[in-house]
Amino acid sequence: MPPIPESLVSNAIPMKWPTSKFEGESPGIEVVIAQELLIWLDNENPTDYVSDYDNIIVDLMRTWDEEIPSLNFFKYDLAPVPNKDYSNRLKYFDEPMGIYSSTEWFQDVSLNALAIAQFSGDYVNRGTSNEYILLDFSTIIINQAFDDLAWDINKSGYQIGYFDLPSIILHELGHFLGLIHETSGQNAVMRATIDTSTKYRNLYPADQNAISYIYGPDFLTLTAERSGPIVSAIAQPKDIDDTESDEENTRVKGFIELLKDGTCNHYVDGKLVYSH
Ligand SMILES: [Zn+2]
Repeated sequence: MPPIPESLVSNAIPMKWPTSKFEGESPGIEVVIAQELLIWLDNENPTDYVSDYDNIIVDLMRTWDEEIPSLNFFKYDLAPVPNKDYSNRLKYFDEPMGIYSSTEWFQDVSLNALAIAQFSGDYVNRGTSNEYILLDFSTIIINQAFDDLAWDINKSGYQIGYFDLPSIILHELGHFLGLIHETSGQNAVMRATIDTSTKYRNLYPADQNAISYIYGPDFLTLTAERSGPIVSAIAQPKDIDDTESDEENTRVKGFIELLKDGTCNHYVDGKLVYSH
């Protein structure tokens, strides 16, 4: 039996999509992408952004997808769409799911967050040691209002002093699929912070272990072996939005920040539930 990835025992409650979403006749999640982000990705030549985003974003999606050959995480017909409301994070809980950006950012999100991943889902095995969240919604929002924002959109490398947008998107795609942060200190795309000297184009062993774990056959078995107090770290009953709650109180929604440095914050229904 493989070891439980450190990120899942020390961080927060596991999350995953139902594997049925990634199997069958038309497997994978359809993901849209904000037109503004595409133009930004190709700011030197906005007219041919389609071919460029195809190279950049699709490669990043495939990097995760190819880790689990039996599942297809994404559909690759990324439709360009207008961005949503720039200052209201909750608007981004509307379909379609995708990779968006905000030029104004959100008052209830850290100013030094480079991006957030928002999610909603249902608790499974609530209150037991093998509790987890079964996702039904995920979306990524890039902070296009970031102070001194100067993403390096170069596919082949990064520039000193610039945050590398493909690295950020690769990290956020990990959240999109349900991964939480790697806190063991190992190298990982899923570490909670990023700096301007970071360039991710491939997964580290810690990332590979984490995605294999949540979509592998040992998921429930290993989940049950985790210790009790840790699994309830992300959300207590008070953190569940009443408007989202059903009779059994299983709904959950929240977001995870990627910060340029410092503490990583996890929020559920606008309330800080976990920092590390
Ligand atoms: Zn993150």
